[in-house]
Amino acid sequence: TRSTPSMLYLDGVHVSFDGFHAINNLSLTLATGEMRAIIGPNGAGKTTMMDIITGKTKPDQGEVLFDGSVDLTKLDETQIAELGIGRKFQKPTVFESQTIEDNLLLALNVDHRVRGTLFWRQSKAEAATIERVLETIRLTDARDRLAGSLSHGQKQWLEIGMLLAQDPKLLLVDEPVAGMTDVETHQTAELLKEINRDHKTVVVVEHDMTFVRELGVKVTCLHEGTVLAEGTIDQVSANDRVVEVYLGR
Ligand code: ADP
Repeated sequence: TRSTPSMLYLDGVHVSFDGFHAINNLSLTLATGEMRAIIGPNGAGKTTMMDIITGKTKPDQGEVLFDGSVDLTKLDETQIAELGIGRKFQKPTVFESQTIEDNLLLALNVDHRVRGTLFWRQSKAEAATIERVLETIRLTDARDRLAGSLSHGQKQWLEIGMLLAQDPKLLLVDEPVAGMTDVETHQTAELLKEINRDHKTVVVVEHDMTFVRELGVKVTCLHEGTVLAEGTIDQVSANDRVVEVYLGR
């Protein structure tokens, strides 16, 4: 039997900042179409790991392969984004004075040449993509509202939608439910599961264990720049070392 091709493959990765080993022999494999939750205490290296994948930080050592064979260590941030790796940072950054629909249109055209400033007409393909994304992020009825008028949770979904509009192969999402209500948190889990069912590979960094449990996916716990434990949320949260460094208070 052949193994599933991996969307992301990190092997023996090291990053140090002035001699401090932020990432210390990190290895991680994500199958194509998988969704993975990354947990770990502050300083575990979660952000640095995302920075390595997006090319913001270059490893001192180790392999980082995308989609089977593309060596990400040789590419810059723009080239990596163009390969289809989308990243959502913790704080929502939407264009507050534009409508939801125009935010999506802007996202769709982010790497296109400007096509006139006065009338920016949607092509049929763009209109179809926007409809699909609006439905996924549950904002179809709010499409004409200004993004600035949305709730914090809805802004997070809009930003996820802006990434989806670009049809990424791999979506990196950093603490999406921070500051959300319980209802929004639940809806975000549903939204990410739907995106994953739609064949997107997803990495979610998150502290909220209720949310991680609801995602129902494999969990990787990082500590001191390496993998401390991997498995289901039940396996990981029952792991003695994880309890010690992360869950134990
Ligand atoms: P997490 O996201 O899990 O909280 P980070 O990846 O932000 O962890 O940080 C891992 C470690 O690396 C921390 O100890 C942090 O202080 C350190 N670190 C991160 N970025 C830098 C940097 N640019 N310079 C120096 N140290 C850094």
